[in-house]
Amino acid sequence: MRRCSAFGMPEPTKRPGFTDAPAVTPSGPEERFRQLVSGVADYAIFLLDSSGRVKSWNDGAQRLKQYTTEEILGRHFSVFYPREMVDRKFPDMELEVAARVGRFEDEGWRVRKDGTLFWANVVITALRDDRGSLTGFLKITRDLTDRRRAEEQLRQSEERFRLLVEGVVDYAIFMLDPAGNVASWNVGAERIKGYRAEEIMGRHFSTFYPPEAIAEGKPARVLRQALEQGRVEDEGWRIRKDGKRFWANAVITALRGADGTLRGFAKVTRDLTERRRVDALREADRQKNEFLALLAHELRNPLAPIRTALHVIGQTRTDPGEAIRAQAIAERQVRHMARLLDDLLDVVRVGEGRIELKREDVDLRDLVHRAVDAVGSAAQERRHSIEVDLPREPISLSADPTRIEQILGNLLGNAIKYTDVGGKIRVRAARDGDDAVLEIVDNGIGIDRKALPRIFDLFVQAERRLDRSVGGMGIGLTLVRRLVELHGGTIEASSAGARMGSRFVVRLPAKSRIEPPFPAAGTGELGETVAPPVRVLVVDDNVDAAESLMMMMKILGQDVRVAFDGRSALDIAAEFRPELVFLDIGMPEMDGYEVARRIRGEPLTRDARLVALTGWGQHEDRELSRQAGFDEHLVKPADPAALERALAETRP
Ligand code: ADP
Repeated sequence: MRRCSAFGMPEPTKRPGFTDAPAVTPSGPEERFRQLVSGVADYAIFLLDSSGRVKSWNDGAQRLKQYTTEEILGRHFSVFYPREMVDRKFPDMELEVAARVGRFEDEGWRVRKDGTLFWANVVITALRDDRGSLTGFLKITRDLTDRRRAEEQLRQSEERFRLLVEGVVDYAIFMLDPAGNVASWNVGAERIKGYRAEEIMGRHFSTFYPPEAIAEGKPARVLRQALEQGRVEDEGWRIRKDGKRFWANAVITALRGADGTLRGFAKVTRDLTERRRVDALREADRQKNEFLALLAHELRNPLAPIRTALHVIGQTRTDPGEAIRAQAIAERQVRHMARLLDDLLDVVRVGEGRIELKREDVDLRDLVHRAVDAVGSAAQERRHSIEVDLPREPISLSADPTRIEQILGNLLGNAIKYTDVGGKIRVRAARDGDDAVLEIVDNGIGIDRKALPRIFDLFVQAERRLDRSVGGMGIGLTLVRRLVELHGGTIEASSAGARMGSRFVVRLPAKSRIEPPFPAAGTGELGETVAPPVRVLVVDDNVDAAESLMMMMKILGQDVRVAFDGRSALDIAAEFRPELVFLDIGMPEMDGYEVARRIRGEPLTRDARLVALTGWGQHEDRELSRQAGFDEHLVKPADPAALERALAETRP
């Protein structure tokens, strides 16, 4: 367009503030144009002659550039330009381009009369007459300072925000395009996920998910949810570039333009691995505390009957029958307590891999008999019947008999505990191919289907009862399973449900059928022949322990002396020449090891049988006492049968 279309418009009423330039001859259309634009206040609209001098001026021009018409008409338009632009001959260039191509548009700083700058949008149009020769220029200038300021503020704030996001190290903050490909990446993302921006930009964000999450369609699902709900929060495992997993909390927000179209997604991810670990530790700590409370409770329980029994025995008026019953109660409780402690120590040791099996050739039938005998009184108390079903041939195993008895004892103990009075318990052992199979079935309270898979876990009890009259500490089955596994076997529990009874099946690798005969179990019966009494020395700094053992040995008809410390033990030994010494290890001043070494060192006493009595029963403790010269190592509280055996072995 060579001419301004406004030139053809009907003549408007003349507006004030418009003055003809005296140097320019008004033409018809130009005059109309002047009238039209004179009152426009928002735009500076003016004419230049072909050399760039101002030919007309309107209200807007006056407002914008501050010159009155009189001041500006005839002056060269370069006064509107900053010095530096005039030096570059920018105004001349503008006119030259406009003359050549018809139009020139520019945005830039311009100068007002008072020297202040404003940001202008300028359009210059060349004007030509009918013959096509240049008559001048139309210049329209708008003041865009406000817009420019707003844009600049926006730009700065975006820049600040970008710098802020880019600098955040604790959060991965990045953008996804609408298809889910990574579109921006901050240092936090690099730190948490391990990729540098150039490695990951453009790749799909499912890269961060582990295979199982991808298999179940999680990445697509979260984007869909973000689309539907605007925002979605999610926790789960993610994968770093190096393949390591981390536990992430991620928030995905859908980003939409003003018209509602999807621009992409913003994703903010935090690494919560450490927090999760702390939570797990806290949970373990809570379980441990709960267990300690339970343990204290379980250990305190047997104390009440023991104390009462002792009181009864201590009364002078108690008749002998009652005293024997009270004693039986106390003994049973002590056994119960000792078993709890043994289980507890064992479960820790197996857990740490510190239990060594002392395998020997055993007949499972013997072990079943012994275990059933051991629980006999407990079963009787609850009037249960125990049916034992064993084959005629031996079931030979290479196994640790103590541990197998422990397994049986625990399973039988549970069957007795978890069956109502008058129940039926069946124990069956048999060979099944290369395995020995042990089955313990009861018709008791049964095990809930939901609880079944977990009953072998540590501290797990199918049902926490308030009165806990029958419960234990939830370690029995854990220990049983570990011991079975140590033997290379398996254990399974089944139950048709509550009140339907339970069935435990243990499979152990058996030995082949051709076996050397089992040695007959020597019972070492006492008192069959009348032998002279054995000289027994009992040494323990716990006076009660020493005296009660002395009493027991006396009842068995032996010649007994007692010492309460190492030194007096040696003095007595030198003169008494004991054949059997029960020696406590932990004593002040001179401990049991030292006493043992000295007894071994004296010709008169060195053949004595030395039996250690101690609270420490681990392998290394036994090794220490062996090195000190002990013949045997008994853990307190020692089973009376073991004490009697020690006696029997002194003079075989
Ligand atoms: P606890 O010391 O509680 O007996 P265990 O580890 O021996 O611990 O057993 C775990 C849980 O399994 C028990 O608390 C009980 O709920 C369940 N349970 C074990 N044996 C039986 C059984 N024969 N009948 C029913 N429930 C049983």
